[in-house]
Amino acid sequence: MSKPLPQSFIDSLHGIPGFNKNSFIDVHEERKQVTSIRLNPLKPTHGTSSLPIDSTVPWCKDGRYLSERPSFTLDPVFHGGAYYVQEASSMFLDHVIKEIYKNKPAPKRVVDLCAAPGGKSTLLTAALPGSFIVSNEVIKTRVSVLSENISKWGSENVVVTHNDPKDFKKLPGYFNLMVIDAPCSGSGLFRKDADAIDEWSEANVEMCSYRQQRILADAIVALQQHGYLVYSTCSYSKQEDEEICDWIVDQFGLEPVQVPVDHDWGIVEVVSEKHAVPGYRFYPDKLKGEGFFIACFRQPNMVDEYYGYHTKLSEAARNIKAIAEPFLKNPGEFILSDQKEIVIASLKKWEGEFATMGKTLNVRKSGVAVGTVKGKDLIPHHELALSHLLSLDIPVINLEKDDALKYLKRQDFTVDTERRGWAICSYEHIVIGWVKVLPNRVNNYYPTNWRILKA
Ligand code: SAM
Repeated sequence: MSKPLPQSFIDSLHGIPGFNKNSFIDVHEERKQVTSIRLNPLKPTHGTSSLPIDSTVPWCKDGRYLSERPSFTLDPVFHGGAYYVQEASSMFLDHVIKEIYKNKPAPKRVVDLCAAPGGKSTLLTAALPGSFIVSNEVIKTRVSVLSENISKWGSENVVVTHNDPKDFKKLPGYFNLMVIDAPCSGSGLFRKDADAIDEWSEANVEMCSYRQQRILADAIVALQQHGYLVYSTCSYSKQEDEEICDWIVDQFGLEPVQVPVDHDWGIVEVVSEKHAVPGYRFYPDKLKGEGFFIACFRQPNMVDEYYGYHTKLSEAARNIKAIAEPFLKNPGEFILSDQKEIVIASLKKWEGEFATMGKTLNVRKSGVAVGTVKGKDLIPHHELALSHLLSLDIPVINLEKDDALKYLKRQDFTVDTERRGWAICSYEHIVIGWVKVLPNRVNNYYPTNWRILKA
């Protein structure tokens, strides 16, 4: 028996464009599960051929619907970052980005303010590979999963920070694109997670609406003139969607931005009551995805700008560089710095940005961790293996699925190679991590806290 939707919730949606009470209730009672993934365009996709891929998500070229939900935990290429499991409606951000930057240069600096577990951030790094991306999460316990997902995705242009939105006041006018995927009452996910139904109340919607306003009021100062704000929630409530859009125009004078949408997609285009801000509503009875709302704005006003651009990173000592550089494909493109004993590679192109983040925010992960120097050796970091920085000279050991799973469980396995020393293991062309091959055994360097615990 499926859990009934609260009457007060149904009543609160009455009159909202696109809300059709009967089909909405039916689709929730049916509880059909839609599973979707987003392929990583920066990694080979051979390994995803064993997934039950059904069709492409219409508004995201890398999005795929699956005909059933496989065990992602037991799929080695999932651990290598070949794809991200993401709800299909929220992949619409990809379409928004493509449309707003269609005839313009990509944004230089991007912030994803409410980022954990990393769905929008990994999408942004794929859509904007040449941008500098700050992926921020305020809740401490959620930062490690965010960092893990960013590491697996393998991008070198991301900084993960752990800050309250008010800390972004220190960076006035710094970002060209700000994504606020706000914490919300979560009604859009009721079909997927029926337990969330019990938490819904009008008082909670009101509390979420205040929190969304506070987040926006704290962060908006960091948006540059002509920069874009993308605001989204997974709530159907007007107080968290259209009313927040009107409030954004009233408070900050941002200009609403229309995004062209294909009518066949089933997305409901709405406008807010006061300022006719265009918004895009996703209903599970109208398309293959969960409930979602998104709107886009442009900052027309002059804003103060942050002038800390010329800050530099402190470079690692020459001997450390000499030890680390052979592990990198294009060492000349990176600054190597030594942070808490770990050598970090940061793109030279973004040196000022990386340094500015280190000085103004609480950085939890920056660039790509190359490894730890031990005497004359480098213990290479897992993040390096999963990134695009890895030297092509590093030997690769291709594993069969059984051995790949043993590797990911940190169990013992044997390899058929005469070569000794550091090597990377791969499955279906996707790198899954480091081993050190010794004369009599193979040392497994898969991170202990990431290992698969499932039998
Ligand atoms: N963007 C994420 C993704 O696509 O994977 C999902 C973000 S989720 C909808 C909202 C996030 O906001 C959560 O990670 C939550 O921890 C964070 N959050 C909660 N309270 C917040 C606050 N007061 N300020 C900023 N973020 C907050």
